[in-house]
Amino acid sequence: MKGDLDVSVVPCDSYSQQEIDKAIGEALNKIDFQIKPNSKILIKPNLVSQNTPEQGSITHYTLIDSLCRYFKDKECKVTIGESSSFYIKGYTMRAYETSKILDVAKKYSVPLIAFENEKIIPVPKKKLKFLDELYLPEIINDFDLIVDVPKLKTHQLMRFSGALKNLYGIPPGGYKQLLHMKTKNINEFAEVLLDVYENINPKILSVMDAVVGLDGGPAAVIGKPKKIGYVLASMNPIALDVIACQIIGYSPENITTITMAEKRKLIDVKKVHAIGEFKKIIFEKLQKGPVADLGKDSPLITRTYALPRVTSKCNLCGNCVPRCPTGAFEIKDNKLNFYKEKCIACYSCVPICPVKAIKLKEFKMNKFFTLIRRIFRI
Ligand code: SF4
Ligand code: SF4
Repeated sequence: MKGDLDVSVVPCDSYSQQEIDKAIGEALNKIDFQIKPNSKILIKPNLVSQNTPEQGSITHYTLIDSLCRYFKDKECKVTIGESSSFYIKGYTMRAYETSKILDVAKKYSVPLIAFENEKIIPVPKKKLKFLDELYLPEIINDFDLIVDVPKLKTHQLMRFSGALKNLYGIPPGGYKQLLHMKTKNINEFAEVLLDVYENINPKILSVMDAVVGLDGGPAAVIGKPKKIGYVLASMNPIALDVIACQIIGYSPENITTITMAEKRKLIDVKKVHAIGEFKKIIFEKLQKGPVADLGKDSPLITRTYALPRVTSKCNLCGNCVPRCPTGAFEIKDNKLNFYKEKCIACYSCVPICPVKAIKLKEFKMNKFFTLIRRIFRI
């Protein structure tokens, strides 16, 4: 079991910076959180490209502001990292802008990472319990602590999206969708989330934005903001989810990520301990619908990513060949070959090309979704 099972629950009525600072300080004190000076900290918010704080679908920037200051005051080195699940112009960097986290990063001189721009490395096969292979950004191993800052939301497939699900923002770019395609049902998707979680090597501190949650669907970004009024913290993201799901009226035995985590002996739900009282704010129980069936053959998932396309600008410098974790590029007979079937859509090759010859080519379905999202600002 990683991390202990205490979960602090602290009332927080609004996103005023003063109130958020007070709530986060109290939440960390209650779990007796300690950090050494000079520790390297990666803050991982929950962002969706082009979404704004008012939509209630992303981590509110005031929590990121507060955490940046908290760790800077403790003389730590802070970085913010994320990979938005939607491919849309600007992608994760666009999400930093619309979420106002770009302003926070500037205020504290904190670097921003988009995981899709980073080098990706394989996880040793023996460390996987469900997947045959898994690739994660190498850079996460440079940190001493990952501060997982989820938004409390309902989710049509997983019913509830919290601290464990937020870590699925670490597999970069369209690779998230490809991993989704390896699953046939909710149990298998929970196994993928747990394989990712178990292979994040640094310690994890989860601090949840449950001041305002996202209620209803059908998709993760389309619900209604609903006041809940808490900040939660724990050194175990699954323990945090055990308490958070109860706050919005779910029972932990109905949340598949929690029941599957129990099977893997990652958590003992009976030992999870809430420090602080809470009252329940009942959220909608999403019924199974088209988005819930995302899986192997659904075009809703199989066509919502992009694949690289090499343009005539390519000067055969060879940079992309070793950068690709799956060997999808090869230079042969003075020509760059791209093997589409090997590509996992991590997008890591795009920024490495010195002449910007690698473009991302969207599927028609993704273009359609992008257009709908732009028009309706979802
Ligand atoms: S070719 Fe595909 S798998 Fe290889 S780095 Fe580019 S996006 Fe990633
Ligand atoms: S990095 Fe760019 S220029 Fe170099 S071989 Fe790859 S596509 Fe061509």
